[in-house]
Amino acid sequence: MKIVARSYPRLLAPLRVGPVILPNRMVMGAMHTRLETLDRPVERMAAFYGARARGEIGLILTGGYAPHPDGRMDPESGVLDDDHDLEPHRAVCRAVHDAGGLIALQILHAGRYAKVPGCVGPSATKARINRYAPRALNTAQVWEVVDQFARTAQLAREAGYDGVEVMGSEGYLINEFTSPRTNDRADEFGGDLDGRLRLPVETVRRVRERVGEDLLLIYRISAVDLVEDGLTGEEIAELARRVEAAGADVLDTGVGWHESAVPTIAASVPRAAWAFATRRVRSAVTVPVIASNRINDPEVAEKLLTDGTADLVSMARPLLADPDFAHKVRAGRSDEINTCVACNQACLDRIFTDATASCMVNPRAGREIEFLADAPAVRRRIGIVGAGPAGLACAVTAAERGHAVTLYDAADEIGGQWNLAKAVPGKAEFAEAIRYYRVRLARLGVTPRLGRPVDADKLTAEEYDEIVLATGATPRRPDIPGLDHPKVVSYADVLTGRVAPGRRVAIIGAGGIGFDTADYLVGDPQLALDPELFLRDWGVADPDARRRGDVTDPQAAGRAAREITLFQRHAGRTGRGLGKSTGWILRGRLSRAGVAEITGASYLAIKDDGLHYSVDGQAHVHPCDTVVICAGQESDRGLYQALAARGIRAHLVGGADDAEGLDAVRAIDQATRLAITL
Ligand code: NAP
Ligand code: SF4
Repeated sequence: MKIVARSYPRLLAPLRVGPVILPNRMVMGAMHTRLETLDRPVERMAAFYGARARGEIGLILTGGYAPHPDGRMDPESGVLDDDHDLEPHRAVCRAVHDAGGLIALQILHAGRYAKVPGCVGPSATKARINRYAPRALNTAQVWEVVDQFARTAQLAREAGYDGVEVMGSEGYLINEFTSPRTNDRADEFGGDLDGRLRLPVETVRRVRERVGEDLLLIYRISAVDLVEDGLTGEEIAELARRVEAAGADVLDTGVGWHESAVPTIAASVPRAAWAFATRRVRSAVTVPVIASNRINDPEVAEKLLTDGTADLVSMARPLLADPDFAHKVRAGRSDEINTCVACNQACLDRIFTDATASCMVNPRAGREIEFLADAPAVRRRIGIVGAGPAGLACAVTAAERGHAVTLYDAADEIGGQWNLAKAVPGKAEFAEAIRYYRVRLARLGVTPRLGRPVDADKLTAEEYDEIVLATGATPRRPDIPGLDHPKVVSYADVLTGRVAPGRRVAIIGAGGIGFDTADYLVGDPQLALDPELFLRDWGVADPDARRRGDVTDPQAAGRAAREITLFQRHAGRTGRGLGKSTGWILRGRLSRAGVAEITGASYLAIKDDGLHYSVDGQAHVHPCDTVVICAGQESDRGLYQALAARGIRAHLVGGADDAEGLDAVRAIDQATRLAITL
C-alpha cells in the first residue's frame, strides 16, 4: 500500500502569543468532559491531559471552571475559587509540563445556562434549554463577577497554569451580557453597546491587572451568535477590538449559542464552515486569532492558516479521538490520524445526558488509566472474523500489543456497516475511520483476508490461540405477509445503491437506520460538504446583510422528489435512539423535506397496492412503490455456533455479541477492552 505523507509548514510553525512561544499552531479546545465525576478524577485528568501534551499539541485548554458556584455548568462540575484546593490543578499542570506541554485554564461562568438552582444572568429570562430560571444580578453583583474571574485567574497562575481563557461565547454569562437578546438592563452593564460590552471588557482588564503580563490571556469571543437579537458583525468586531485593548493576548472564536437552532459542530456541518466568522474577528484585531469548530483534519487546518482566516486552529473532539494528532502531523504520519468523525455519540451526547465523555473511535479517551495495555507475556496467534468497527478495533489493538493477528471478512473491503453509514448525507466522515484502520493495519503488517467467508474448518485448521468473532448483525426480517414481494428491499440494498427505490417509499422501522435511510433518500449530500449551501439551508445570513445574530429564514431546498413515510409499531415518538445532539438536526431536515410518520402501526401485509396496516384497529393501505425494511438487527452467530459444536471457544464482540441497540461506540469499546486482555 502506497502511503503519501504530507507536510503542513504553517501548522507546524511556532508562534509567540503573549508571554509564551507555542511550538505549533494546534490548540486543544476546551471541552466539558465530566471526568471529575468518575473515580480517581485527578489521576484521570492528569493522564488525559498528559497524553495530549505528549502528543505534542501546542496548547491545551482545560474544560471550563466556574469562578463562583453560581456559574457551574451543573452541580458536579468544577469551580476554582478560594474554597477549592489547588492541589488537583497542580497535578494536572505537572503532568502536562512534564510531557513538555502548555496548559491554560478556561474560566467559564455558565450564567443562565447553569443547571443549578439559583443560577444568575443579566436578566431573569429563562433559557429555553434550562429548566432553572436565573435571577438578575444587580450592578454590585456584576462587579463581583468581574472580581471572581480575576481571582480565579490568579489562582490558576498559582496552580501552575500557563494561561487562562475567559469564556465569552456559546451563550454563557458574558455572552448573555453582550446581547440585546438577554440583556435588558438599564444600568452601566446594559443599554447601549458600551454598556453591553462592559462586562467582557472589564473582566479582561481586571484579569490582566491581577495576573500581570506573564500569564497568557485568551478571550473566547462569540464570532457569530446564531440567535435572534444576537450581536451584529460590526458589534462583534468592536468587542474584539475592545478586549484586545483591555489586555487579551489571543482571541479564540466560538460559534453559536447553545440554544441556537443552527447546528454548529455535528457531522452535517461542513468542515471549516465558520471561517467567515473567524475572518471577521481577525480583520478587527492585531493579536492572533484561533479558528474552531469542524476542523478535524490537518489539510483543512493548514488551509485556514494559509488563506488568512486564522493564526491558530482549535480542535477539541479531534484531540479526544487522537491524542497524538499533532505528533502525527509533525512526524509526517498524518494519514495515521484517528479522525474525529463528528458523530458526538460518545462525547457530547453523553455530556448532554449527564454522563462522562469519551470517544467512539478512541474509547481510551478519558479512560487512559483503565487502558494500560502492556506488551503481552506471550505473543499469540489471534484470528478475528469481521472487519467492521469491532473487528478492526480488536485487530489494531491486539496487533499494537505485538500479537500475530489475522483478520477475515467476507466483503471486499474493511469497514462493515460504516460502509453503509458513509453513504448517508452528513456521514461521509465515516470514510475517515475506515481510512485510519486501513493505514494502521498496513503499518502493523496485518493484511486483511477479504472477499471470502471463513468457516469453522478453516479457523480450526489455522490453530489460533484466540478466536474473536466480530461477525456483526444481519437485518431483521419481520414477520409480515408479503415480505418476499418484489417491492420489499432492505436498508443495505438502498444505502449501497444496489436498488433505486421508487417515488413513494414506506420505511418499516423508524429507529436510527430508518431515519438515516430516509435522509439518504431525500437529503442532498452536498449540504454537509459545501459551507455556502449549508449556511443558506439553516438560515445563516450573508454577513453583508448585517443581521443581528447572523440569522435569517432558512432557504431550504423545496420538498423532496420522493414521498417518504416512516412507520413504527410503537405509538410514541419516532427516532428514540437518535443522539441528543444530532437527532434534532435530522428530524428538522426530514420534516423540511416532507417526510411523514405513522406510529402505532400493526403491519398486515405488503401487496401490489402497497403496505396494508392498521392503527387503533382501523385498517389502511399506504400506496407505495418500495418498502424498505429497517426493523433492527439480529446477531450473526452462525460461525460461533459452528465452532462451539467442535468444542472451540471464541470471543464474541459487537453486534455478534448483542445486536439490540447496537452502536459503534459500544462495539469499539468492547473490542478494545477485549484486545488489551488477550
Ligand atoms: P433501532 O434504532 O432499534 O430501530 C429499530 C426499528 O425497528 C424501530 O423503529 C422498531 O420500532 C422497529 N422494529 C423492531 N423490531 C421490529 C419488528 N419485528 N417488526 C417491525 N419493526 C420492528 O435499530 P436500528 O435502526 O437498526 O439502528 C441500530 C443502532 O444504530 C441503534 O442503536 C441506533 O440508535 C444506531 N444508529 C443511530 C443512528 C443515528 O443516531 N443517526 C443512525 C443509525 C444507527 P417498533 O418496534 O416500534 O416498530
Ligand atoms: Fe469525535 Fe465522535 Fe469521538 Fe466525539 S465521539 S470525539 S464526535 S469521533
